Amino acid sequence: MSGTSGDAVVAIDGPAGTGKSSVSRGLARSLGARYLDTGAMYRMVTLAVLRAGIDPADAEAVESVASTAQLSMGYDPEESSCHLGGEDVSFEIRGDQVTRAVSAVSSIPAVRERLVALQRSMSAGPGSIVVEGRDIGTVVLPDAPVKIFLTASAETRARRRNDQNVASGLADDYDAVLAEVRRRDDLDSTRAVSPLSAASDAIVVDTSDMTEAEVVDYLRELVTQRSGAVR
Ligand code: C5P
Repeated sequence: MSGTSGDAVVAIDGPAGTGKSSVSRGLARSLGARYLDTGAMYRMVTLAVLRAGIDPADAEAVESVASTAQLSMGYDPEESSCHLGGEDVSFEIRGDQVTRAVSAVSSIPAVRERLVALQRSMSAGPGSIVVEGRDIGTVVLPDAPVKIFLTASAETRARRRNDQNVASGLADDYDAVLAEVRRRDDLDSTRAVSPLSAASDAIVVDTSDMTEAEVVDYLRELVTQRSGAVR
């Protein structure tokens, strides 16, 4: 599943708010690796569903949108590039409406089947890659030589998310953010297909008391030990 010797395939999983995206991008940058954000794919399908005016709980209708949506993603850790049917939706997929509906869409087996196949083909090929999501080490790339599962307390994750919201001009509402973090954790970890859980051979890293730079350094060290893949 990895490319030529010295290439690293790193699976990074964990719930929202553990700093997973920033850390995965930072690690990819530091390794000179490609970066794949699988959450963005679920978000793009969700956006397509919402635009089609479909109820995210209507599995059959969602399945038909998911099977025809044209998704394309870049690998650059510096720049998110997500195109739906040729349109750049990198910004829109981060909006509240998509965030609220994405767990329902991602719990539909046919959606997962299509996206997992796409994620596997996008992860293949020569060169190192950091793949970020919820089921990368367990389902998408079970043979990945380095698997990381990031955790942090729900309170820490809510505080980080609320701070980000405030910094970007949104309302300061820690209690609402904490409730949303718990709701998504619950939906993602109890769904029937590919629930969020650490692979038995994943290294679990609690980021509650670590800065982003500390986590990146620590992971880079782990990758070096496991695959010798640092440039
Ligand atoms: O990582 P992000 O928060 O953008 O992911 C959005 C949602 O996509 C998650 O809450 C989860 O429901 C879903 N997801 C998933 N499997 C993945 C990545 C994301 O089910 N590998």
